Amino acid sequence: MDDEVQVQCPYCFQWQLLVVDPQTRGVMIQDCDVCCRPWRVYVERDADGRPRVSVERS
Ligand SMILES: [Zn+2]
Repeated sequence: MDDEVQVQCPYCFQWQLLVVDPQTRGVMIQDCDVCCRPWRVYVERDADGRPRVSVERS
C-alpha cells in the first residue's frame, strides 16, 4: 500500500497529500498540484519503513 504524507509547498505554502509508493527512496521531482511549480522531494525511510519526506524548491 502506498504511503500518504502531508507536505507543504515551498512556493504557495498549501498543504497537500503526497502519495509515496513503497519502493520510492531518494530524490524525485514533483509538480505542485496548486501552483504547478516543481518540487524537489527527498524521501527517506526510518527503521520501520515509514517515510520521512522533505520538500524544497527545485
Ligand atoms: Zn504550490
